[in-house]
Amino acid sequence: MSQVSTISDAAAAAPPLPSEEADDEPPDSNVVPASTARPQTFSTFFPPHRRGPRQSPAARDFRRAFYPEVTDLEWNDWRWQSRHRIRTLAQMERFLVLSKDERRAIIEAGSLLPMGVTPYYMSLLSRTDPTQGLRRTVVPSMQEFVRVPGEADDPLGEDSHSPVPGVIHRYPDRILFLALDFCSTYCRYCTRSRVVGTGELAPKEDRLVAAIDYVRRTPTIRDVLISGGDPLALSEDKLDWVLGELRAIPHVEFLRIGTKMPAVLPQRITPTLVKMLKKHHPLWMSVHFLHPDECTVEATRACARLSDAGIPLGSQTVLLKGVNDDVDTMRTLLHRLLQMRVRPYYLYQCDPISGSAHFRTTVSEGMELMRKLRGHTTGYALPTYVIDAPGGGGKIPIQTDYVLGREGDDVMLQNFEGKVYRYPDPPPDTARKLHLRRLPVARD
Ligand code: SF4
Repeated sequence: MSQVSTISDAAAAAPPLPSEEADDEPPDSNVVPASTARPQTFSTFFPPHRRGPRQSPAARDFRRAFYPEVTDLEWNDWRWQSRHRIRTLAQMERFLVLSKDERRAIIEAGSLLPMGVTPYYMSLLSRTDPTQGLRRTVVPSMQEFVRVPGEADDPLGEDSHSPVPGVIHRYPDRILFLALDFCSTYCRYCTRSRVVGTGELAPKEDRLVAAIDYVRRTPTIRDVLISGGDPLALSEDKLDWVLGELRAIPHVEFLRIGTKMPAVLPQRITPTLVKMLKKHHPLWMSVHFLHPDECTVEATRACARLSDAGIPLGSQTVLLKGVNDDVDTMRTLLHRLLQMRVRPYYLYQCDPISGSAHFRTTVSEGMELMRKLRGHTTGYALPTYVIDAPGGGGKIPIQTDYVLGREGDDVMLQNFEGKVYRYPDPPPDTARKLHLRRLPVARD
């Protein structure tokens, strides 16, 4: 990607949106001026009681400080949120006291990965602390410019497994269907940072038709994961059409959607959206949550709506240094996800994308985290820790080894406390002989 030196240059360099897609990527607009300090969010979670508050304290205080004239109707309208995304240095400085590093990175990093934060998600960030986990994941840092050996713009080799634009076909029976490259909020560690926000994968009808056609003429595909960008940024009509076309293909057994909307723009999960999604069952959803601070009353309500519509929810979480790599934070996140009816599914080792070293833990730190979680919480709370193998090798589970080996006919096991146990596991021949010996003698 070519470098541009300022945010305004970056905005000017951004490809124009096709007019038919205006609903999918609303234009930027001015941020309401205000600048009082706001209390820091910490305990934003509410148990998902049906008659709970509709707004988290963080969002309420943020609105009072920065958007006093904005109505509930506007604030809770996902299109309003999307139109008012914070995308420039000037807008960012209204909400955050930027460090020198952040300021410089925003000016210089515009071309590497676009910056965008919804007002709702901004309400969850610390105004003054650049080390706050959530803030680090959406505000650029100069560390994004540091490239270390092993990193690549496309570490998973997705581009080499793309038979048609927007389709990644790595496994025989399933594909990744990239509906668009737009996200309402851009994560600084995004695996697809080479694509997102560039306009390369606009949701134009001819591209989507070609991608759907590829699925139609490839009978081995039984599972389609619709991702992006964020597919829930599409208008309901367009998403309905994509889902309907794919569901109509006889060999497609079920659909999945990958989205971060419940975390960054929960207002998107409207009754109209879930009513439409329900038409396309079996439909599963992978929701991207990182940190307990994202598990707000708004996010809880969004997940409840999806669950009530019969959509099973599984979480995908990226392990990030200084964000969620300590046991307390991760355990709190996993517990809150369960309370939100989201099954923790995958914990990803951060992909080695260019400029991601400051986000990556070592694999042994990830294994140690999993070891400390296992046995100390509900089994349902434990995601599978995986590495998406560089070069297109797919997801490989990384397991702490609990099997110590064999002693005679026993398997030697170590539990979460480090205690050793035996499990009788004679070879099949021995088992058959023992079984035969116990059989009753047949009588005439
Ligand atoms: S929501 Fe997903 S696709 Fe969009 S920037 Fe974040 S990680 Fe990337």
